[in-house]
Amino acid sequence: MAKRYQAAGHQGERDWPTPKESVACQRCGKGTFATIMSYFNTESICLGCEKEEQASPRYEEAKRAENEAVRQGNYNFKGIG
Ligand SMILES: [Zn+2]
Repeated sequence: MAKRYQAAGHQGERDWPTPKESVACQRCGKGTFATIMSYFNTESICLGCEKEEQASPRYEEAKRAENEAVRQGNYNFKGIG
């Protein structure tokens, strides 16, 4: 799942070059140097928003659905919303 990470710093995943300029989180709009693809939809979100997703009761469900889609070769899975 390393392809999901676009920047360094997430434990357990391979490092990616940090972008020189921050990008806006597609969910909260804050500038961030590290974004991750949401498990719930196709937004690139900051690590703060990722934490909120992880706190969601549906996080495990969303993650399972995403992993299942990727296993079936569906890399454009839209998420469970
Ligand atoms: Zn955010």
